[in-house]
Formats: sequence, C-alpha cells, structure tokens
Amino acid sequence: MISMSNKIKVIPCSGMGKVLGLVSREVALKVANELCAHQSENMCLAFVSTDGEASGKLIKGKKCITIDGCPKMCAAKNVANVGGIVKEEYRVIDAFRKHKGAKAGTATELTEEGWEIVDEIADELAKKVKELSKEGN
Ligand code: SF4
Repeated sequence: MISMSNKIKVIPCSGMGKVLGLVSREVALKVANELCAHQSENMCLAFVSTDGEASGKLIKGKKCITIDGCPKMCAAKNVANVGGIVKEEYRVIDAFRKHKGAKAGTATELTEEGWEIVDEIADELAKKVKELSKEGN
C-alpha cells in the first residue's frame, strides 16, 4: 500500500530465489497488515529503486524500517538513497544465526520452523514500530 500518510514505512528487500527474502517479505506483511496496521504500512522496494523521484516524495523525511535478507542491504540502501529515515535496518540473516540448523523452507514456501522465525522477527519489529510511533513525527 502506498500513501502520503505518516505511518512508519516497513520495507522488505525483494530477495527472490532465497528463503531469506521470503522471510523478509512475510515479516513485513505481518507487521504492517496484522500487528501494527494502524501505525505502519508497506512500500514496494522495486518502486523505491526504480522511481526515486516519486517514491522520495512519499518517504523523504519519514521513518522507515527496512528488512533485508542478506548483508547486501538492498532495502536499507535504496530507502536511504531517496531520503527515507531508516530507523531500523533489520537483517534476516542475523535471526537465522540464532536458529542454527533451522530448516526454514525454500524461496517459495516456509516450513513451520520458518513461520516461527517470521513470527519472532515480526514481534520484535512490531515493538520497534510502536516505540517509533510513540515518539511522534
Ligand atoms: S538484501 Fe540480499 S536477499 Fe535481499 S534483495 Fe538484496 S541481495 Fe537479495
């Protein structure tokens, strides 16, 4: 969803072909659609990356949380490039380090363990959204 609102933008990387990318997108959806629907919204990274002028109008100076699958940090870098204020740069790979040996699934389908990791990260980021929204704009 894209709007001119002051909701916190929760932006996952695109991460196609990797379970890390799927986890990143599922976390973003859970935070913005379920856990913090009133305080946050998703934005599409492809739009941020390909139309910096248009996306910059929507996120310049706005608080953003980026969720990246791997250390390349595509979402964090692209959001910062268009002027978004990245308050949290989450790396899904760090959560996987805490769950060594977890069988999270594939690039297209998560296992029960994968969904548990999604829930754990989403809970952590939902707390962050709530803290940031209490701070005001
Ligand atoms: S951060 Fe890593 S997983 Fe995500 S889009 Fe970039 S290269 Fe792919």
